[in-house]
Amino acid sequence: MPDFTAEKKCLQPAIIYCTSLNKLVSSPFFPVLLAFSCYFIFSVPFALLNVVGERAPIFEYKIQKQCCPTIGMMLRTLGTTVYNHLVFVLLAVLISNVVMPVPPLPAVAPTVWELISGTLGVLLIFDTQYFFWHLVHHKNPHLYRWVHAIQHDYISLFSWSTQHLSALELMTVGLWSNPILLKCHPLAIWTLSVFCIWMSVEDHIGYNLPYSPGPLVPFGLLGGAMAHDIHHQKPSSNFAPFFSHWGRLFGTAVTVIPTKKTDRF
Ligand SMILES: [Zn+2]
Ligand SMILES: [Zn+2]
Repeated sequence: MPDFTAEKKCLQPAIIYCTSLNKLVSSPFFPVLLAFSCYFIFSVPFALLNVVGERAPIFEYKIQKQCCPTIGMMLRTLGTTVYNHLVFVLLAVLISNVVMPVPPLPAVAPTVWELISGTLGVLLIFDTQYFFWHLVHHKNPHLYRWVHAIQHDYISLFSWSTQHLSALELMTVGLWSNPILLKCHPLAIWTLSVFCIWMSVEDHIGYNLPYSPGPLVPFGLLGGAMAHDIHHQKPSSNFAPFFSHWGRLFGTAVTVIPTKKTDRF
C-alpha cells in the first residue's frame, strides 16, 4: 500500500493526472517532446520581439541594441535544432531505450522538498560539469573548433541561438547529470527539464529583463542573460551556464551594471 503522508499528498494530484496520460508519459520520446515543446514555447515570444525590432515594448532592455537577428538567422538556427533532434537525439533515445527502458511511473508523488532539492541538486551538478567542460573547450583550440565553435557563430544573441549547437556538444552535454541515474522522481526530472530549458533560453534571449531570475536572485548568484551575453561578446569570461560561483572562484566572472541607454560593456 503506497505511503500517502501529508507532504506526499501535496503533489499526488499531479501523479494521478500523469497516470491518466500513462501512454504519453511512459513513452521514451516523452522527455524529448517535453523539452522541445518548452524550447519552442519559450523561444517564440522573443523571436516575435526580434521581428518587430525597435518597436518591441521591451526594446529598452535589449543588451546589444545595435544588433537584431534577421529572419534568415532565426530560421538557420531553428533548422540546426530541428536537424539535431531528428537525427541525433531521436537515435540516442532509441539506443538508450534498449539499454535502459523507461521505468513505470511511481504510484506515489515525491514531497515538495524532494522535488525542489532534486531539481536544484541536478542543476548545481550540471552547472559544475558544464563550467569545466566549457572552460576546457575554450582553452583547447581543437576541441573549440570541432565541438563548441558553432555555439559562438553569433555574438549578439537571440532565443533560437540557444540550441545552435554541434551534435557533439548537444550529445555530450545531454548525457551529463542524467537525473535517471541520480534516481530522481519522474516529476522532478520533468520539472528540471522545463526549468533547464527556460534558463538556457533566458541566457540567450539578448534582453536583460528586470523581472527575470538573473536580476531577481540576490548577490548575483545567477548569471542570467547579461552574463551569458557577455560570454558571447568576450569568450574568456562567464563559462558557467546558470550560477556565478565557479566563475568567481576561478576569476572568470565578468559582470556589468546594465543601463537602459548603453548596450556595451
Ligand atoms: Zn551560448
Ligand atoms: Zn563558449
